[in-house]
Amino acid sequence: MLQSPPNDLDAFWMPFTDNRYFKANPRLLASARGMYYQTPEGREILDGTAGLWCVNAGHGRESIVEAIREQAGRLDFAPTFQLGHPLAFQLAARVGGMMPGDLDRVFFANSGSEAVDTALKIALAYHRVRGEGTRTRLIGRERGYHGTGFGGIAVGGIGPNRRTFGPGLPGSDHLPHTHDLARNAFTRGQAAHGAHLADALEGLVALHGGDTIAAVIVEPMAGSTGVLVPPIGYLERLREICTKHGILLIFDEVITAFGRIGAATAAERLGVTPDIITMAKGITNAAVPMGAVACRRGIYDAVTGAMAQAAGIELFHGYTYSAHPLACAAALATLDLYRDEALFERSRGLEAYWEAAVHGLAEGRHVIDIRNMGLVAGIEMAPREGAPGARGMEVFRRLFDTGLLVRATGDIIALSPPLIVEEAQIDTMVAALAGVLAETV
Ligand code: PMP
Repeated sequence: MLQSPPNDLDAFWMPFTDNRYFKANPRLLASARGMYYQTPEGREILDGTAGLWCVNAGHGRESIVEAIREQAGRLDFAPTFQLGHPLAFQLAARVGGMMPGDLDRVFFANSGSEAVDTALKIALAYHRVRGEGTRTRLIGRERGYHGTGFGGIAVGGIGPNRRTFGPGLPGSDHLPHTHDLARNAFTRGQAAHGAHLADALEGLVALHGGDTIAAVIVEPMAGSTGVLVPPIGYLERLREICTKHGILLIFDEVITAFGRIGAATAAERLGVTPDIITMAKGITNAAVPMGAVACRRGIYDAVTGAMAQAAGIELFHGYTYSAHPLACAAALATLDLYRDEALFERSRGLEAYWEAAVHGLAEGRHVIDIRNMGLVAGIEMAPREGAPGARGMEVFRRLFDTGLLVRATGDIIALSPPLIVEEAQIDTMVAALAGVLAETV
């Protein structure tokens, strides 16, 4: 049944939104099924972004809904401080089993931002228990997005997300991003040029001293700043330099984990194993909020060993809702769906079709680059003179009006459909974009 639109939109302070514009021109979503949202007026919107890169199995999946319903009736909440409930342990083992290498110790949070802050704290704790407490610097990357916690914005590399909020964590620093339009525009998949950009970490080691650096955090494929695919060899180089200097490497896989680029993790797909992986979004198919951090066993052993003996609690960190029973139930049902419908393999299998389709927009008006990996694409437009981001926002709004949901980040249109997408729906998305690009000045 369709819900009628609310009359009063004032009270909700909307995140990452131009509130005044929105409230004068609201776009509401009332229900969702499979590949589509429905508006309160009953219009169908093809979901080209899996919500916000998160509804990987498509909307309204019965088995997930049922698991949540059943769990709510059995055990609505249980603390996980000094107590536990069975699903938390089952889910940790399940997620750990999907991680590369020995990253099979899993901490739970409620969002990507919390997962990132958790990972950064675990890195600091790890060095401290090993007698390397001088390692407090956290290194991120320009154009990195690691959520909106104070840790996440300190290592994040997006100016507007940082500069209103004070100086950030002392000692945080940044590597250069890997976006190189001059050399790599219209590359399909990973670009050949750019591995050397990882060497900037050697520069930071020379500048600060390797023994002051706790961790480097990167998105293996940066999503929110416009789909920046790692150049061939770049992550391998970063791994090598981190290992050489005893620096932990964190992959922020909040977007890339759970099939987005055709494998359980980007680490698996790209063959580079970090020390810590952060996740969220697809872990529950977004039906209940959840974040998670997978750590190498040695990190868990070090922190839980020495620190626990000293204080009775090894890591003074956690959330009331860490491993919330409803999130665990949703996650277990989601992971069953991914397995039973082979959705990661499906994502990988569709990649060639996807790549050909999105690169078909290369001649589109304003288009200056197209990037892709897995079931993700970034279509970059030249900014409008004196109004960066305006063109992206216009394309987003026009597409919504024609029945396609995309994500605009500046003048880059990001596509990341649910992994159940059909080839015909990919064609529909590309045709809608081509039409709107042609009409946009
Ligand atoms: N890290 C990455 C790589 C992300 O893409 C996001 C969200 N887009 C976050 C962290 C933050 O996640 P959340 O919005 O759930 O806090």
